Amino acid sequence: MNPLHPRRQHRVSHLLASLLVSALPLLAIIPTLIWQEKQDLRRQAEQQVTQAQIQLDEILDQAQQASRAILPLAGAPCADAEQELRRQATIVPFVRSTALLRDDAIYCTSLSGLISNPKPYNTPFVAGTLRLLPGNRTTPDVPVLHFRLRGEHGDALSAVDGRYLQLALQDASDEGPVYLIVGTRWLGPHKTGDGQPPHPTQIQAQRHSTRYPYSVSTGYALPAGHWVLWQHHAALLLVVAALSLLAGGTLYRLLGRPASPTEELLRALDNEEFEGFLQPIVRPRQAGWQGAEVLMRWRHPREGLIRPDLFIPRAEESGMIVPMTRSMMNRLLRQLAALRLPDGFHLGLNISRAHLDDPRFYSDCEAWQRALAGCGATLTLELTEREIITITPKVEALFRQLHALGITIALDDFGTGHSSLVYLQQLAVDGLKIDQSFVAGIGSDGLSAHIVDSVAELAAKLGLETVAEGVETAEQFDYLCQLGVGWLQGYYIAKPMPLDAFIRRLRAGDTWNGHGTLSF
Ligand code: C2E
Ligand code: CA
Ligand code: CA
Repeated sequence: MNPLHPRRQHRVSHLLASLLVSALPLLAIIPTLIWQEKQDLRRQAEQQVTQAQIQLDEILDQAQQASRAILPLAGAPCADAEQELRRQATIVPFVRSTALLRDDAIYCTSLSGLISNPKPYNTPFVAGTLRLLPGNRTTPDVPVLHFRLRGEHGDALSAVDGRYLQLALQDASDEGPVYLIVGTRWLGPHKTGDGQPPHPTQIQAQRHSTRYPYSVSTGYALPAGHWVLWQHHAALLLVVAALSLLAGGTLYRLLGRPASPTEELLRALDNEEFEGFLQPIVRPRQAGWQGAEVLMRWRHPREGLIRPDLFIPRAEESGMIVPMTRSMMNRLLRQLAALRLPDGFHLGLNISRAHLDDPRFYSDCEAWQRALAGCGATLTLELTEREIITITPKVEALFRQLHALGITIALDDFGTGHSSLVYLQQLAVDGLKIDQSFVAGIGSDGLSAHIVDSVAELAAKLGLETVAEGVETAEQFDYLCQLGVGWLQGYYIAKPMPLDAFIRRLRAGDTWNGHGTLSF
């Protein structure tokens, strides 16, 4: 699998995060809607009691008017008052009958005239003005509201038919029944009773009349939250649920999507997953390793060790190769620090065009060269000619400065590019690396051997060092040594190895016997 295109990830944490995102909007909106519902119900309850109170006040206004009209007759003999009492009961709306009282007992009514044996009712008047009775002698099942006005010689009373009051209460009852409360009695739209009105109390509203001693009250039970919400906000809830699911789903997809190649490289860089392997380089007729090339490997947490050709091209395109090389080299040089390398040891580092544009490149090289000097070695930059490098005065100046630091420059993959000779001339390179494709042909393909011969001859004439890479057989090794190639690298000598193996073998003297198969 390509390490730069990892599979989609399906993790429980992604699922949980997405479920949370799906649920959050609903979890937030449901309490808000329930709160809003309660507010609406409270407002509605307030409206109901206000409406009931306005209507009841109007009815009582009529009762007050009738009582006022007969008050002057209070205390007078019933025979003198009777007619006016009847007249008021007839003409004043809502008033069913009128009466006169003496010592709290009715002695004369519009209904039956003189009462010979007046008896006071048990029910007292609230604030001396109102009393609510479940019925009276004439109509025991019809509630009646008495309105009394006090006079000097007696009192005037108007009886309001409870059915009018109940109609007014019914009119105001919308979400829940509204009750009229007078003292300890209440009158509902259909019933009357004592004590607290029998409405629920979860949401309630009560209002006292400012003009008469009564109050009105209503109350609702709170319906099951989910049911109200569904009834009133089904569309909104469906839209929110759909959008939340969409958001959760999108998040799940985004979280699980494979990282882009550059993101994956960045992650690996943060994790310090790029590591330098070292492949030894030897010299003909000399024992021991005289140099090494740093070859980058990606130690991927899932894919294992990854070859550079799978990720270097993308790293070069994105410019990531610069921080990747810096991370690899800094780590490598830290580990090499305590080591003593053979005198004249060259450490080859592959660089790309992107390095030449990086403002920190010179200072990086300076630091690496200084660190290598501590181990008795120098840095060789391997510049591949497969990548086209535009030689600007700035690049030329950079190479001059690098030379001044004692850093050497080798042209890598020599012969495979197109502008080799221009590079040789303008960049003042110190050596050539004969590409392994030509070395591989030695012994089997005459053309390759000719090319190797010509490169070696050209290098000798120009006074350049030559390195042969990809030396795999004793035959190739011997041929190249006889040709005068100064440096040799390939599986025949040693494969690229992790740094700790390189150090271990160096310390153990397990390196190169200096002969190959040829004895000189
Ligand atoms: P290169 O610079 O030409 O490196 C030599 C390649 O040949 C290495 O492959 C090495 O393992 C391989 N090799 C060495 N001896 C033999 C041999 O005897 N036979 C065969 N068949 N192969 C041999 P590797 O390590 O896979 O690197 C491939 C390329 O990736 C390198 O080619 C270089 O162009 C690039 N590369 C590696 N490391 C870096 C780096 O740190 N920076 C940059 N910019 N490029 C790098
Ligand atoms: Ca190289
Ligand atoms: Ca090469």
